[in-house]
Amino acid sequence: MKPRLQVMKFGGTSVGDASCMARAAQIVAQAGRNDAVVAVVSAMSGVTNRLVETANRAGIGDREAGSGLITALREQHNVALAALVPAETARAAVCRKLEEILAEGQRLFDGTALLRELTPRTLDAVSSLGERLCAPLFSAALAHLGARTEPVEATELIITDDFHGGAEPRMDLTRQHCESRLRPLLKEACIPVVTGFIGATAKGVLTTLGRGGSDYSATILGAALDADEIIIWTDVDGVLTADPRLVPNARTIAEISYREAAELAYFGAKVLHPKTLRAVAPAGIPVWIRNSFTPERVGTKITPQGRSVGGVKALTAIRDVALISLGGPGIVGVPDVIGRTFSTTAEVRANVLLISQSSSQNDICFIVPQSDAQRTVEALRHEFSQDLAHEVVEHITMDPNIAIVAVVGENMRGTPGVAGRTFSAMGRENINIIAIAQGSSETNISFVIEDKSVKHALLTTHREFGLDAVVPE
Ligand code: ADP
Ligand code: ASP
Ligand code: MG
Repeated sequence: MKPRLQVMKFGGTSVGDASCMARAAQIVAQAGRNDAVVAVVSAMSGVTNRLVETANRAGIGDREAGSGLITALREQHNVALAALVPAETARAAVCRKLEEILAEGQRLFDGTALLRELTPRTLDAVSSLGERLCAPLFSAALAHLGARTEPVEATELIITDDFHGGAEPRMDLTRQHCESRLRPLLKEACIPVVTGFIGATAKGVLTTLGRGGSDYSATILGAALDADEIIIWTDVDGVLTADPRLVPNARTIAEISYREAAELAYFGAKVLHPKTLRAVAPAGIPVWIRNSFTPERVGTKITPQGRSVGGVKALTAIRDVALISLGGPGIVGVPDVIGRTFSTTAEVRANVLLISQSSSQNDICFIVPQSDAQRTVEALRHEFSQDLAHEVVEHITMDPNIAIVAVVGENMRGTPGVAGRTFSAMGRENINIIAIAQGSSETNISFVIEDKSVKHALLTTHREFGLDAVVPE
């Protein structure tokens, strides 16, 4: 009989130091006793942020920052290695691999500082170093527990387009590569430890899937290999009714639908990368979110249908976004203003999260991540330069101090009054609502408020819909 196949992904905190990594390796080794397993690892926590910061410093000519970080990463990974793998001989091979990757990192920083230019392609190469250092280390920890294992770089597996910083997989090619590279290992009961977050173009140029993208790596690999389930091991007990850092009473949700989880992820629930469920949707593979620090708990199961309980299932907020408005009394007369606005955002690959238009058509406003805002405004000013010159369009402005709150639940569709209750609660608490959007699917209602009111708004809505009181299922 064909063994079951699990893909298990461990996030940054789950591999944050030697003791976390040992715990994670134990989980994989145990699963590997009965099932075929592919492990996917993120960088040790904080490493990707440090790499990106240092790359930016090198990009403005700082020649020292790179060496400083490489020394610190060598120390950090060697300390973990020494704790995880007592045998000197087993350590030596891993050490050599780490040194190769660190040397590559040093060359990337030196080249960037020399040229004073950080291209998206180089930034991807630098950002990938954390995962590339972690995979051999994790694989060695697993081998120490007696498992057959091999580290594999996802550049050999996940083939993507060439959009650096947010590449999309080409599933047909990815499937072929996974079959030829991973399937033989799995047949020999060997556990591949794959670098999360990264891929490569068909020409072999390294790409990344976007920040937090290791979740997506896991589902891409799961889909490519027709896995039976995917488990995303993180530092919370599953998908909660709200971000526990903002809403301390948030509860774990036992089962949630793809659609609900995707809405939450899309509107900022960091527990899942927004694209994660795209890869598994065609095959309907279940995805679990579990806590690597409390593996005895079952966590959350994400399934195509979910399980219906109540109307509102969870809340989320997305910060780090900006409101862009385009307007003026003459805007009604501008030909195809909406079409031009959104083909401009598409050209600069800005991720438009919410759109709202006043009925007088005097104003169009929409929300994009802060990282996309500047280039979007510049592109719009360029597109509408003639109209601005003639004051047909009066302004194109950007407000970065805002946030979107989203109320999510498939069953909201059949529950009248969710919007009314939400907005009355906001009114009662004096929280000013800047814009509102409700998808026609009615699985989410989202509204825009000032960033400083986010916590207050979440706590109020959580209480209003009795999410505090939901007994864990
Ligand atoms: P990892 O490093 O494992 O990928 P992340 O930090 O990316 O973990 O995501 C986990 C974090 O997501 C949690 O620590 C939690 O603070 C945050 N989070 C935000 N919203 C939610 C939610 N609704 N449910 C669970 N966690 C959430
Ligand atoms: N290490 C990458 C990041 O920090 C990817 C991930 O953790 O999912 O964005
Ligand atoms: Mg994450």
